[in-house]
Amino acid sequence: MKVLILENGRLFQKILQDLLIELGCTVSSVRTGEEGLDLLVSTDEDTRYDLIIASQHIFDKTGNEFIQYCKNSELNTPIILLTSEPNETLLKNARAAGIKDIFPKTNITYLKSSIRYYIQGKKNFDIQGGRILYVEDSASVAHIVTKYLKKLNLEITHFASAEEAFHAFADNEYDLVITDVMLEGTMDGLSLVRMIRASNTHSAKTPILAMTGHDDAQLRIDLLHAGINDYVTKPPIEEELAARVNNLIINKRLADQVRQQQRSLYNIAMTDQLTTCHNRHSLSEFAPKYIKDSIRYDFPLSIMILDLDHFKQINDEFGHTTGDIVLSEIGKLLMTTCRQGDIVSRIGGEEFLILLPHCSINHAMNKAEKIRSMIEMSKPSELNVTASIGIASLLDEHEDDFDRLYKAADNAVYHSKENGRNQVTADPRSIEDSELKLASNV
Ligand code: GH3
Ligand code: MG
Ligand code: MG
Ligand code: MG
Repeated sequence: MKVLILENGRLFQKILQDLLIELGCTVSSVRTGEEGLDLLVSTDEDTRYDLIIASQHIFDKTGNEFIQYCKNSELNTPIILLTSEPNETLLKNARAAGIKDIFPKTNITYLKSSIRYYIQGKKNFDIQGGRILYVEDSASVAHIVTKYLKKLNLEITHFASAEEAFHAFADNEYDLVITDVMLEGTMDGLSLVRMIRASNTHSAKTPILAMTGHDDAQLRIDLLHAGINDYVTKPPIEEELAARVNNLIINKRLADQVRQQQRSLYNIAMTDQLTTCHNRHSLSEFAPKYIKDSIRYDFPLSIMILDLDHFKQINDEFGHTTGDIVLSEIGKLLMTTCRQGDIVSRIGGEEFLILLPHCSINHAMNKAEKIRSMIEMSKPSELNVTASIGIASLLDEHEDDFDRLYKAADNAVYHSKENGRNQVTADPRSIEDSELKLASNV
């Protein structure tokens, strides 16, 4: 942003300059209206100022000429007037000169934050593109509004009917929907708003700006109830439309950012940082859901617990860092051998648990044996690593209690350890249950 400072006090000029530079502005400073005028006259179209900050001495002889020039030349550059002792004549002069923003300069801290807020607000105005879905059946209004929106660097997709617009909405991502209310066809703007809000995706929250007639307060109320975020009356005033469009898009971006941050925080909270497997907390979220689904839809659910053998020795002989690398490699190996929907989690130092939906005890046995042999062959960090594995399936007697299922698999791990490690043991009750089921089917 290019800013021109018109201030005769050197100290004050420096304070303003420093602040504006800190805010990323390009600054020119002059001390009199005459110097200011010279600068403005010699500045061409492309490099003209976005903002003028002038102290009240601007109403001296040459200052008045400066203001007259700003007013007559249609520069439209906003002027902020800084006053040390506001009085009625001054304010009247300022208003007559078209100056709307008047900041007191008696309290520097307050002045600095006012300028900071003003400049940052203007910067926020620059929304850097965005996609608009625009519905308007009047070709002439559509032409004007599209022209206004294009000036804001927005990409506009225009439809004359709500039906077409809704199809496009379902297939694309938009930052904002702008809709006329009275539309040709079978759907009006109000129905479109209701359809968008009722759609079952995150797009249902896309901001909506309605364009209404001046005199229809009840319709505006209905639209607000239906879920529009804002409205402008037709024909829209360019600056007002721009301000409302900007606000809505900025708010949407902030909401998107929050959603994304929530998602990444959730992922961090659910992930074991060393192996990138799920962590114990994540397992405690998934396990009850998987159990519930298994009971409800009557599909088998098995779990596999793996405990690496003599892992303490690995740490003792090769160091904790090597131990960590081994854990991370084993975690990756488990994740790559499992299918989508399986949940691989690290539940303790060198213990992993895998939830296996749609997997009977026999399939779990095969899978466990395959994993056991892969771990044995994998030689992470050139070391011999093996695992003792226990598996169990969800049985009626476990009801919906994950702890009972867990205990069955944990006992099986204990047997694998007792019997010499590097082997798979299945929970005997799970095997018995599966054989009984098989026999009753024959
Ligand atoms: P067993 O075959 O009976 O399971 O023997 P073990 O040594 O694996 O079992 P134990 O439970 O006695 O020791 C587990 C070891 O795992 C203790 C600790 O040194 C190691 N360990 C636990 N968490 C981590 C970790 O995050 N990083 C590393 N490097 N080692 C860990
Ligand atoms: Mg219309
Ligand atoms: Mg252990
Ligand atoms: Mg162990």
